[in-house]
Amino acid sequence: MIPTVFDYQRATSLDDAVAKLQAASGGKLIAGGHSLVPLMKLRLSEPAVLIDVARIPGLSGIKEKDGKIEIGAATTHREVAASALLKQACPVVAETAIEIGDPQVRNRGTLGGSLAHADPAADYPATMLAVDAEIHIKGPKGWRKVNASDFFQGLFTVDLQPDEIIAGVQFAPVKAAAYAKLHQRASHFAIVGVAAAVEVKGGVFQSARIGLTGASTHATRLTAVEQALAGKPATKETIAAASAVASVDDLNSDIHASDEYRRAMVKVFTRRALEEALARA
Ligand SMILES: Cc1cc2nc3c(=O)[nH]c(=O)nc-3n(C[C@H](O)[C@H](O)[C@H](O)COP(=O)(O)OP(=O)(O)OC[C@H]3O[C@@H](n4cnc5c(N)ncnc54)[C@H](O)[C@@H]3O)c2cc1C
Repeated sequence: MIPTVFDYQRATSLDDAVAKLQAASGGKLIAGGHSLVPLMKLRLSEPAVLIDVARIPGLSGIKEKDGKIEIGAATTHREVAASALLKQACPVVAETAIEIGDPQVRNRGTLGGSLAHADPAADYPATMLAVDAEIHIKGPKGWRKVNASDFFQGLFTVDLQPDEIIAGVQFAPVKAAAYAKLHQRASHFAIVGVAAAVEVKGGVFQSARIGLTGASTHATRLTAVEQALAGKPATKETIAAASAVASVDDLNSDIHASDEYRRAMVKVFTRRALEEALARA
């Protein structure tokens, strides 16, 4: 399929991107193009203007600042997967990136594009929930920060206005965390993906954050499991009991997996993610 005719502009800064979005009626940002271009080819999206943000200076990169990790929105999945800083300080984020698609997708696709697009089967959203990331957004009224648990709101729906741009994410590094995923064989998208981060002290689960993707309309925290772990001995038995309550409303049912299968896999992959996170604690 061939997209409708569109104009192409390249943004030189965040402010320039916002100004171009405001000036263009029906304008859309493009970063890696690996979600937007397929939609344009199917004519499910028909932007009049594409505003390229992939080469805005400073919008890509991974750094540690004041004990927190910052990843720029235009950072590719490949850069995240290969990051020595992430592998050492917060391996779950790099390990999530290596799970995305194939080398071609990882070479072009970006963190900001993935978060803004919010495919129900995308990998990053689960991990951003588990590491409790803050999403930094620039718009015509200035900066705002949104916690990941408030950002993902529904099917392809996030807390982002049409004239806003994601600048990056920030989170405190966590080592005791892991991502476990059942993937579609062709695209590698998540049928079910669970990211778990745990805090263990004196052999007891102090707290846990668990993000689920692939199973329903949007990524969500498994708060019932988190509560079932808190204050309990950090053992495989506790994890097994807590994983048994892992569930979500409105399970997806499609050619890749029925809702019944996903229901079972949510529990299995919650247990696997938690066991791996505990092994790292
Ligand atoms: C074959 C294939 C397999 C894939 N497999 C997986 C997989 O296994 N797991 C997975 O998670 N994903 C997968 N993807 C999706 C891939 O990760 C995309 O790269 C990603 O979802 C979108 O990132 P992008 O940079 O390509 O965004 P684009 O396609 O450029 O943009 C997507 C959307 O985000 C908006 N946007 C882009 N950047 C910003 C920004 N900084 N601020 C605000 N809005 C922005 C755009 O306007 C657009 O609406 C796959 C894609 C393909 C084609």
